[in-house]
Amino acid sequence: MDSLVNSLAQHADWAYLVGAVLFILTLRGLSGPKTAIMGNRYGMIGMALAIATTFFVAPSPALGLIVGAMVLGAIIGIHRARTVPMTQMPETVAMMHSLVGLAAVLIAIAAVFNPDFSKDGVHRFELFVGCFVGAVTFTASVIAWGKLSAKLGAKPLKGAWVKPVQAALFLAMIGFGVHYFVTESVSSFLIMTAIALVFGYFWIAPIGGGDMPVVVSLLNSLSGWAAAGIGFTLSNSMLIIAGSLVGSSGAILSYIMCKAMNRSLLNVLFGGFGTASAAAGGEGDGKEKNYKSGSAEDAAFMMANADSVVIVPGYGLAQARAQNAVKELATVLKEQGVTVRYAIHPVAGRMPGHMNVLLAEADVPYEDVCEMEEINSDFASTDVVLVIGANDVVNPAAKDDPSSPIYGMPILEAHRARTVMVIKRSMAAGYAGLDNDLFYMDKSMMIFGDAKKVLEDMVKGVTGGGH
Ligand code: NDP
Repeated sequence: MDSLVNSLAQHADWAYLVGAVLFILTLRGLSGPKTAIMGNRYGMIGMALAIATTFFVAPSPALGLIVGAMVLGAIIGIHRARTVPMTQMPETVAMMHSLVGLAAVLIAIAAVFNPDFSKDGVHRFELFVGCFVGAVTFTASVIAWGKLSAKLGAKPLKGAWVKPVQAALFLAMIGFGVHYFVTESVSSFLIMTAIALVFGYFWIAPIGGGDMPVVVSLLNSLSGWAAAGIGFTLSNSMLIIAGSLVGSSGAILSYIMCKAMNRSLLNVLFGGFGTASAAAGGEGDGKEKNYKSGSAEDAAFMMANADSVVIVPGYGLAQARAQNAVKELATVLKEQGVTVRYAIHPVAGRMPGHMNVLLAEADVPYEDVCEMEEINSDFASTDVVLVIGANDVVNPAAKDDPSSPIYGMPILEAHRARTVMVIKRSMAAGYAGLDNDLFYMDKSMMIFGDAKKVLEDMVKGVTGGGH
């Protein structure tokens, strides 16, 4: 048995290499809906291999404690995974990132207090960076979780004093970290950690609640870098690779989200993100504008008699949990000989992939789901576009109005279709707080009501009439 353990420990690097390849395959698999399940499986195998191998390389693992903690974690994790509604996914992810940050802090503190742990320059540097990134990630993720789940006020912290306080805390954190690095002073290390925890709060609190998804994605990246830093501390190549993969994929995702919103990351983090949107709320030219409204039955009749319908889902679809109702509508329309497709904007909803996840949950066929670049040129030849609880992602001001805050943001060009129908509850603005000229066009018709109810009425309308 001992020789088996020794040989496994000697070959740990091979196991870690296989684990790393599996993690890379995971990310590749997760990049498309058809391969996502396989991608998840690679991830599960890679993670199991990494954990099992770590048992063999750890000098004297406290088996009882580790297994006990893992079982407890698994019970909580399985329960959460089974019960979390899709709309609460962003805050759940934020909570998980906080745990990665906390783990990095605890490991760094344990290493600082461990007399057997080498404290040469490189290790001190890793401890300093890994710990402060972990501590900032921890508090920032807890605040992001609180804002997303409405447990903490989503209102941004405001005031001229905020930026100087942020700067002072940041400089103090780095100052104490450098002092630890130079002098090995444990108290400086602990003060740096405490300041980093406070800085995490002051960094995120000024950012508006609705804007948290970009922040969550950035925290995802930071939690990865914190894990990679701790991987260096523990000389664990698997942790370094996995942390770097999480760090870089989170950074790429933050960049993609910012690009789709036509904002820079610096503007998101330090430009009072969310406050600008709120300030723009209700902006308009002051003129009374007219819009047409109709009933679900009218809309159903028009769609059932169309050749092609493109459905544009947005945040309202998630809010109304109407994914099954929309699938049902598409099915009955197809039965009437109508071609039905879905157009997905990269930042529709409140988290990346929000619409894809909802539609997948309702078993919408992947071939019916089109990305923005793929479908934008088809709108002009589409009979009916059905916008469901989407607003900013179809706002033509992003293309035509240079004074609009969202000018330059790529949109789904629904306004080019022959007829546009919009399901929403009122004429209220969406996330960016802007009026939408699409709703006032001659070819547009508003169908007011909760998306689920309206869609169910449309299904009844289609099955009752048609070609
Ligand atoms: P919007 O927030 O622009 O609009 C959603 C619309 O849905 C609202 O106008 C609302 O109107 C309507 N709505 C809400 N609840 C319901 C309901 N129960 N039934 C029917 N309608 C409803 O959403 P979009 O998806 O168009 O755009 C997403 C926005 O979020 C973009 O501005 C994007 O930049 C931003 N964002 C997206 C992120 C992401 O990762 N996806 C991250 C951060 C920000 P009414 O109240 O009248 O019903």
